[in-house]
Amino acid sequence: MRERFDIVIVGAGFAGLYMLHRARKLGLAARVFEAGSGVGGTWYWNRYPGARCDVESMEYSYQFDDALQQEWRWSERFATQPEIMRYANHVADRFELRKDIRFNTRVVAATYDEAAKRWTVRTGDGAETSAQFVVMATGCLSSTNLPDIKGLESFAGARYHTGEWPHEDVDFTGRRVGVIGTGSSAIQSIPILAERARTLTVFQRTANYTVPARNAPLDPDFVARIKADYPAFRARNSLQINAFGSNMPRSAIPARELSPEERRTALEARWRYGGLFFLGAFGDLLLDPAANDEAAEFVREKIRGIVRNPEVARLLSPRQIIGCKRLCVDTDYYATFNRPNVRLVDISETGIDEVTPRGVRVNGTSHELDALVFATGFDAMTGTLLRIDIRGRDGRTLEDAWRAGPRTYLGLSVAGFPNLFLVTGPGSPSVLTNMIVSIE
Ligand code: NAP
Repeated sequence: MRERFDIVIVGAGFAGLYMLHRARKLGLAARVFEAGSGVGGTWYWNRYPGARCDVESMEYSYQFDDALQQEWRWSERFATQPEIMRYANHVADRFELRKDIRFNTRVVAATYDEAAKRWTVRTGDGAETSAQFVVMATGCLSSTNLPDIKGLESFAGARYHTGEWPHEDVDFTGRRVGVIGTGSSAIQSIPILAERARTLTVFQRTANYTVPARNAPLDPDFVARIKADYPAFRARNSLQINAFGSNMPRSAIPARELSPEERRTALEARWRYGGLFFLGAFGDLLLDPAANDEAAEFVREKIRGIVRNPEVARLLSPRQIIGCKRLCVDTDYYATFNRPNVRLVDISETGIDEVTPRGVRVNGTSHELDALVFATGFDAMTGTLLRIDIRGRDGRTLEDAWRAGPRTYLGLSVAGFPNLFLVTGPGSPSVLTNMIVSIE
């Protein structure tokens, strides 16, 4: 027999947890399906060493309940993955959300019945659930991207993906480890893997800009000041273009109105402050190519100052626009390449020839490895949605509706799919913003 609900919510990450809470407030009978065995979404899966949020912890949290935001204590400026998981679990317990969540249950299909004006949601165990509304709180970074590299399956060592990291600790002591990718996940994990592994070989296709986090324990006076004024602090953040960072807002002054010394001072101040605020050094840093070039060259100069081997520094220096691809935030990333056990392999021209049982071959040279870490990102935004067989009016699939690209209304709904809603999908503010704010 089909269970019936008013609303089915897919995913128990921050979007799904909050949606469940809201649905209850609206008096809707709700059921959440979650593929993982616990809450937390992207933070549940991304347990790689060094995983940490790059939005400050006093802001990367829910604001819908003042008692919640007053009682929760963050320990560092930027929260670690384990701490964010503790927070997600605390929220689930505090609002008694678990009783409406079915864990270890993956949604495989959702079909709209025009006559009944209801959705039938099918899960991996074959069960069907009927609901008037379906909310896809599936996250935009939840289906991992494992590149199709020749020989991949032949590798005799251990293989990991940052986005599907094992729940138990992985011991890299004495092992020769390779990392493919230099995105945010790689940049966070490489300094820690380098400390643990015998050798670390980083295979880089595109160098990425990263700025220091300047992470530190939270100052109790700072926390007290924010908590004394939390609603107003949230309101100020909501007026920032990315919904965070009112403590260090984007400069209103364009670079061209500053002298070279003033521009330098502005960049230095942001570099010292740490975090994504770097991109706010000039009002036009993301609009004027000259302003952008100057900020990019500033970072390249920092890389040359940190990395002792000039050839490695050159390879680590990105050439693209800074802030086009999301900026990364790190702790000791560039300095890690000064370690004697760390090697950078440039694959920008050649790619990877193949993975062999003993390691990775690039341009004819074999790199012997005991473990291979894929920090190769996700089938982002649309991937997870398209893996579910979603059929709207007249049996039309979402895949068909999005053949020419993912079109949505405000990132929330899709024409022809009545009462099916997206939270962080294509067209939503998503990773360009403080996601918890956008989710709420
Ligand atoms: P990502 O940014 O997509 O980076 C993937 C990396 O893998 C890139 O360096 C890419 O190189 C490389 N790659 C992909 N396929 C490859 C192949 N076939 N051969 C060689 N290299 C390959 O993934 P991510 O680092 O997991 O980050 C995903 C998103 O999550 C980003 O938006 C990121 O900002 C966000 N994130 C945020 C945090 C945080 O809050 N602190 C932490 C982690 C991630 P190319 O650049 O050449 O494609």
